[in-house]
Amino acid sequence: MSAKPILTVGSIAIDWLELPDGRKGEVIGGSATYFTMSAGRFAPVHVVGVVGSDFPQQGMDIYHEYAANTVDLQTKDGDTFRWGGRYHADWERRTTLYTELGVFESFSPELSTENRACPFVCLGNIQPVLQLSVLNQLENRESLVICDTMNLWIETTRDDLLQVLLKTDILLLNENEAHLLTGVREIVDAANQIRSMGPGTVVVKQGSSGATLVDDSGAVHAGVYPIEKIVDPTGAGDSFAGGFVAALANGRSMKSALVAGSATASFCVEGFGTEGILRLTEETLQARMDVVTDKSEFA
Ligand code: AMP
Repeated sequence: MSAKPILTVGSIAIDWLELPDGRKGEVIGGSATYFTMSAGRFAPVHVVGVVGSDFPQQGMDIYHEYAANTVDLQTKDGDTFRWGGRYHADWERRTTLYTELGVFESFSPELSTENRACPFVCLGNIQPVLQLSVLNQLENRESLVICDTMNLWIETTRDDLLQVLLKTDILLLNENEAHLLTGVREIVDAANQIRSMGPGTVVVKQGSSGATLVDDSGAVHAGVYPIEKIVDPTGAGDSFAGGFVAALANGRSMKSALVAGSATASFCVEGFGTEGILRLTEETLQARMDVVTDKSEFA
């Protein structure tokens, strides 16, 4: 693999999912899990995170298979982070049923020397104070920092998030979050306002309408791969990030990374939990990227 290494921090979870078609169940999840599975086939992923002593072997097997480096993946006495979510009939809106921090409550990321110099750093969805802690331990000032976030942090820890944004090169967030952060509804205007907060590049994810990337050169839009049936949208954002960052780590352009992110997310939503991502290979991804490229608007 000639791709450059990606350091990622994020949640590692046991999720409880309730879907509109009646399906329910407990699965391995978390932003770091979806990211690692989506990026790990195409670039070496170095994981920073924590699990509890109850984390199943099946979850560890995912990390041993998809991550290139787990030296900063800690196992602590206590319970793994747990999240429960219920989706509404339109599949896009969801309600958080519970969030149990478990070992995340006292988590302090500690980067080993080998992980302080990774050229790509992806701050997955997790408390901004933990994202900051990782940033403060980096030794490579040239690292490209990509950050993902969610409405919870914009609403509850905005000041910490603004500190992270000052050190972020590329911010990924969805349309509602961009509106929440800026008060601006129009996507390109909101993205440009966010760019004045630090990130030179902003990617606004628009669900089934695709994604828009705004940087110094203006705005480009990528469409989506038309899937037959949504099974479970959990992790779509983290999988988008995985596909996007892995493409950059392979030296691809921003436009190509945008297309890769959109195509990668389409695999995620086709299966329950992480099952859909199991179908992600170089060939299947390329085929979907070709379709997404046809549905994109590049100047
Ligand atoms: P996404 O659908 O891309 O937003 O990602 C869903 C994943 O985010 C689930 O697997 C959850 O375990 C994880 N998650 C949900 N809430 C939080 C939170 N507050 N902090 C960190 N991870 C979370």
